[in-house]
Amino acid sequence: MDTQVLKPTDDNIEYAGCLIAKGQLVAFPTETVYGLGADALNGAAVSEIFRAKGRPGDNPLIVHVSAPEEIEPLVTEMPAMAQKLMARFWPGPMTLIFPKSERIPDEVSAGLDTVGIRMPSNPVARDLIRRSGCPIAAPSANRSGRPSPTTAAHVYEDMNGRIPVILDGGPCEVGLESTVIDARFSVPVILRPGGITPEMIREAAGDVRLDEHIMAPVAEGERVRSPGMKYRHYAPKARTIIFEGTPEKVIAEICRRYDAEQAVGGSPAILGFENHDYGGRRVLSLGVPDHPDEAASRLFAALRELDTEKRTLALCEAVSLDGIGLAVMNRMGRAAAFDIVCLE
Ligand code: AMP
Ligand code: MG
Repeated sequence: MDTQVLKPTDDNIEYAGCLIAKGQLVAFPTETVYGLGADALNGAAVSEIFRAKGRPGDNPLIVHVSAPEEIEPLVTEMPAMAQKLMARFWPGPMTLIFPKSERIPDEVSAGLDTVGIRMPSNPVARDLIRRSGCPIAAPSANRSGRPSPTTAAHVYEDMNGRIPVILDGGPCEVGLESTVIDARFSVPVILRPGGITPEMIREAAGDVRLDEHIMAPVAEGERVRSPGMKYRHYAPKARTIIFEGTPEKVIAEICRRYDAEQAVGGSPAILGFENHDYGGRRVLSLGVPDHPDEAASRLFAALRELDTEKRTLALCEAVSLDGIGLAVMNRMGRAAAFDIVCLE
């Protein structure tokens, strides 16, 4: 199969919508990352997503809608807190967990009795959903285990020959996957951090909790509320280590380890801030320290670049946990299998 990369013109979105309606797969842009979509009500089409990605069958998919009304047939209940958060943060990078109706195939929910639903803000994504005439189940459009794609070129790298069409809407604005929230009860719980930050949820809901697995590895066989959390994700081939502490100590330690790696014939690279002086060593920029949104939008491309450059060691500067920084550190932490060195 040849994979076509198409500009999101009216005609092309219409064509892509017809493919989805016929049970085929289409990769499309959202404000978070590129998604790999199928008709969420067609179990056979949804199975094709798992096949194309090589995704474990127990990792559920998020269902995307183009308007809040579309979720009614998909759920058995509309919890009050979920309605409050929808009114405040949809369309946008927030997924809510609902008790699922029997219209949601088991392939989507991976055997859970709940379903994650999101209304994206990206106009191409919403237009595609409208034209396909069905809700679209879509995980990130990468091969399982690779960093999520934030450009159509990343999707092409992973999916060429596996799907008929990629809609190219340019680079994704946020660059990290949506915030997944269980808002079935009075205090919302963040299962996966993302573009809608804990501070924003607390402000809207009065209170917020974080799932304990956000900044910790999941032990073998342990049950988690967000099944995706247990997989080693986003992992470059390079051994990846994160350094936390004052900039002076972090820069000095990263330079020391960089030079030691080179001395034994390895190929190190740094994921660091561009205002820090690394004396000409290879730095993949995370922007500047007080703009965690830049680190968010650059992180996945930088992790992919490590593989392209065949790096053996990735030395990363920690980002502050404020705002979207928590989501950056959650993804970076998992890429590093939570190998975090504290220098204070
Ligand atoms: P992806 O779209 O690849 O970012 O993966 C979607 C992630 O959303 C999964 O890995 C889960 O962690 C989470 N998720 C989706 N549906 C549910 C659900 N019903 N309950 C809890 N977490 C979910
Ligand atoms: Mg994913």
